[in-house]
Amino acid sequence: MEFESVIGLEVHTQLTTETKIFCNCSTAFGAEPNTHTCPVCLGMPGVLPVLNKKVVEYTIKAALATNCGIQEESRFARKNYFYPDLPKGYQISQYELPIARAGYIDIEANGEKKRIGIHRIHMEEDAGKLIHDPNRPFSKVDLNRTGVPLMEIVSEPDIRSSEEAGAYLRKIRSILRYIGVSDGNMEEGSFRCDANVSIMPKGSETFGTRAELKNLNSFRHVEKAIDFEIERQKDVIADGGKVVQETRLWNPTKNKSTSMRSKEEAHDYRYFPDPDLLPLIVDEKWVDSVRATLPELPDERKERFEKEFSLSDYDAGVLTAARELADYFEECFSYLDNNPKQVCNWVTGPLLGLLNAEGKSIEESPVSAKNLGGLLKLVDKGTISGKIAKTVFEKMAKTGDAPEEIVKKEKGLVQVSDTGAIEEIIVKILDRSEKEVEQYKAGKTKVMGFFVGQVMKETKGAANPKIVNEILKRKLDV
Ligand code: ADP
Ligand code: MG
Ligand code: ZN
Repeated sequence: MEFESVIGLEVHTQLTTETKIFCNCSTAFGAEPNTHTCPVCLGMPGVLPVLNKKVVEYTIKAALATNCGIQEESRFARKNYFYPDLPKGYQISQYELPIARAGYIDIEANGEKKRIGIHRIHMEEDAGKLIHDPNRPFSKVDLNRTGVPLMEIVSEPDIRSSEEAGAYLRKIRSILRYIGVSDGNMEEGSFRCDANVSIMPKGSETFGTRAELKNLNSFRHVEKAIDFEIERQKDVIADGGKVVQETRLWNPTKNKSTSMRSKEEAHDYRYFPDPDLLPLIVDEKWVDSVRATLPELPDERKERFEKEFSLSDYDAGVLTAARELADYFEECFSYLDNNPKQVCNWVTGPLLGLLNAEGKSIEESPVSAKNLGGLLKLVDKGTISGKIAKTVFEKMAKTGDAPEEIVKKEKGLVQVSDTGAIEEIIVKILDRSEKEVEQYKAGKTKVMGFFVGQVMKETKGAANPKIVNEILKRKLDV
């Protein structure tokens, strides 16, 4: 039997507000344990939570950017469970009435465009962290993270493959980074994902029983875990068994998942509305004022890049995937007045290659947009050749110096556009290449390449190729 897989993703992301969701403790990462705490986030009796307005604004921003409807009234609930990293004994989270519902984003996977529905978006607080030292008979608790604001984005079960899941996650992350509400760092845990996976006979309208996969710490793990799960469920059915609803834990070193708990063992969180927090009312005026702060989003920017710079769908996609890279490209191009494709080639080629090799992000680029723009300007003006530009680029990467300075310091790099000097060299070369000149005149025009090569060798690549070609033609075509 042929099967179709059904996937729904839950993304938990840390919001980049400076303070926590219900108190004014700092959210900064890496502080001494338990220094970013107060009676509210320590769960002391008698204290009251106060909702951080920024958290609400960031969530509205994310909801608008993913085409969700903002609910005028939403509520916070208590999700009750015991764990040593949860001092209150409950986590505050939106449950029955989330702040946003019914949105969508567009993705592209396997060469096809597709719309994926967003079921809901809600706000919640993070728990603390346990630190286990294998050499000690006890564990330590760090509550700096308790109360750090999280946003959960739950997709509709519209995803059909691991490729689509990867594309969906990358798009969500790109959007959140564009609007500046999350740093989207999966390795550091500020962008986490659970995947719900089921299979059903191809063409069926009824979904199968799903398994929920946890501990997916990178895009690769999400994709691998989903593929593993699809195959596992197919095997269960092929063996005459039934898929059971369960939570499974991905083991990235063994490349497989194991059952963590079945539906019967699932927690009953005894959700109820938090009596300490009023219903949250978001009126249209508030929504409009947040909407006014939305920047150009990835899809819009990609479309603009295709039109404004005549770039291909692919090039525009690469350049606009991250806001910083798109900014870099635009700044770089602002120093020039034509040939955006050339800028694109330099940015997606040598520049990304350099960043990749050095493990740096675009913001840490040793070659600034201004310097790359300046370099391409020198090529444009004919001061240096495209070949020399590569050498100057490498020097800029090492020193961070401006291209004009590098070229000035090393006279040899300047492109020889001096017609007289080039002509002299050409005459010399033609004199000593009698055989090739005869071949050319006999119609073997391919030897032109040989002459150009000789001139370049003589000038160490510095001769302006356009002028070289012109003079050669003039001398040979008599
Ligand atoms: P829970 O609290 O049980 O995790 P949520 O509503 O938070 O429930 O998340 C459910 C997720 O599972 C959603 O992303 C939804 O799209 C997805 N989902 C629901 N049913 C299925 C199914 N049969 N197969 C795959 N995914 C599913
Ligand atoms: Mg869930
Ligand atoms: Zn606090």
